[in-house]
Amino acid sequence: MTDWSDTEIADLAAALPAWYAAHQRELPWRATRDPYAIWVSEVMLQQTRVEVVIPYYQRFLAAFPTPGALAKAPEEEVLARWSGLGYYSRARNLRRGAGLVADAHRGRFPSERQAALALPGVGPYTAAAVLSIAYDRPHAAVDGNVIRVLARLFALEPPRDRSMPLLDRLADRLLDRDRPGAWNQAMMELGATVCTPRAPLCDQCPAASACRARRLGRPESFPAPKNRAESIEVRGVLLLLRDPAGRLLLERGRWRLLPSLWLPPILADAALAPSLPGLSEAGDLPRALANRGWAERAHELRPLGAVRHTITRHRIRLDVVAGRSREAFPTEPEQEWVDWSALAARGRSSLIEKALRLEQGVGVSDPARPESGRVRRRTAEAAGGQR
Ligand code: SF4
Repeated sequence: MTDWSDTEIADLAAALPAWYAAHQRELPWRATRDPYAIWVSEVMLQQTRVEVVIPYYQRFLAAFPTPGALAKAPEEEVLARWSGLGYYSRARNLRRGAGLVADAHRGRFPSERQAALALPGVGPYTAAAVLSIAYDRPHAAVDGNVIRVLARLFALEPPRDRSMPLLDRLADRLLDRDRPGAWNQAMMELGATVCTPRAPLCDQCPAASACRARRLGRPESFPAPKNRAESIEVRGVLLLLRDPAGRLLLERGRWRLLPSLWLPPILADAALAPSLPGLSEAGDLPRALANRGWAERAHELRPLGAVRHTITRHRIRLDVVAGRSREAFPTEPEQEWVDWSALAARGRSSLIEKALRLEQGVGVSDPARPESGRVRRRTAEAAGGQR
């Protein structure tokens, strides 16, 4: 399978657990064997950094301590607790999965791989992580960090998306079957703290003597870069429309990129004809307002600047426009005027936070906002690095 000798494999089998015992970070999900808690942590850690996840994890488990509690909670409340972590389909899948665990598995995350894989949002990595850590099942968990470590240990050249079966076999070959949970976490920890994407700390690595990428003198060139899908540019206008009481108009289900969140109206328009001074690439705003039936309702329109946001492959730029309505006109289904306290209770994207910060910067205040008048800071949605 590789050119590693049995002695080198045995050395790593001894060195990695010893290194992990001495150097592992204290993380809240490492203090439990509760499969539900480990599941929650693994879902949160997908696409999100450890330091961002910790407070969310603690608050989420305090609010929903069991799969049953999570399954019974309204989706809106779950999304609100998730707000700021981004990638909201993770939260919806977790809640649906919790319902299945509560109903079909007596409230306990299943201990068999096939049953775990049948849960929404649970793929081979999450199943292996939960089963090995909570139940000592001998499944190798291969996440992005482990892929990088393996590719370097064995100097694997092919792009990672074409070498997964080999990486899975190597991970399985190395797995400590007596302590699979600790082994998996050690591999992930090595990738997160020592074998980092850039400037790996090879002189601190327990695998340094056998690592083939290090011998070649170019560890950073492994694994080969992934073929990235092209990004999609999205342009539009985010409308902060307030009624005479200062409430914001929010709606849900109208913007395809975040269909489950309550958002200010986002008017995406293909025509790139600036229609207000200071508004760039925002489209034909009057026409977009007319399309929504708001041409006579939105007044005192003022461009506040632009916000940028990324959702998967979509690179979004929205021109933020503030406006006033002379009345709280009747809303349609999935559309509401909300004050600050209601807004704070909603599951909302950091996109809203960015827009509100722009509004705050030009002195518009929400009468119902907490006395500091400041938008509550939320951790930015993180992408990329995990653990
Ligand atoms: S020796 Fe360097 S490149 Fe090899 S696994 Fe360790 S940190 Fe990564």
